[in-house]
Amino acid sequence: MDEELMVEVRRAMANWWATHPHATFAEIEEAVEEQIARIRARMLEQVVADGPRQERPIRRACGSTMTPKQEAGRQLTVRGDAAVQLHRRYAACPSCGAGLFPLDEELALLPSSFSPAIHQRIVRLGTLLPFDRVPEQVAALTGLTVSRETARRLTEQVGAAQVAVEREELHHPPDGRADFMTVLEQTDPLARHMLIGELRPTDQEGTNEPTSDGARV
Ligand SMILES: [Zn+2]
Repeated sequence: MDEELMVEVRRAMANWWATHPHATFAEIEEAVEEQIARIRARMLEQVVADGPRQERPIRRACGSTMTPKQEAGRQLTVRGDAAVQLHRRYAACPSCGAGLFPLDEELALLPSSFSPAIHQRIVRLGTLLPFDRVPEQVAALTGLTVSRETARRLTEQVGAAQVAVEREELHHPPDGRADFMTVLEQTDPLARHMLIGELRPTDQEGTNEPTSDGARV
């Protein structure tokens, strides 16, 4: 961990005590959380930057070696409304012409300015609550400001991905659960995760028997 940052954090807490001598535990907790949010963001940046990196990545879709191009930053919002800066390089495929950021794919980033964990929390709340109530709950649980519109958009994207999967099934009825999950993974990994990890907690090891009304599980 960055020693300079730790010194800064200790100093910030000492200053905070000087101005809040009669703080309650809840107030202390909140002040500590603020510092942890800073540490979390810096750690995420460092760990990603220190990770192994393919200089000439292979494009999975066509198997070609991609040509590295210019660097471009990307910012993600994480818990505590802290910003994480990622530095990654664009790459182009000489065979099929596709261009992408291999690191984004490797890290399974979503098309979102939120980190995957935050994105998932917003969508989860969006599926549980009326959209009007989502911003308040997101703020309470993650310290983030998110508009009703954003909550609606992110939640509906996952819903649309699920519909796309169901349509795909109609055209190519899968023989088993593996096919369904493969399609879902390709279409939307988040939706897949929510289906097996969150929305169907009792069916994680379930069979693929159609239910009595014909719906596929
Ligand atoms: Zn290609």
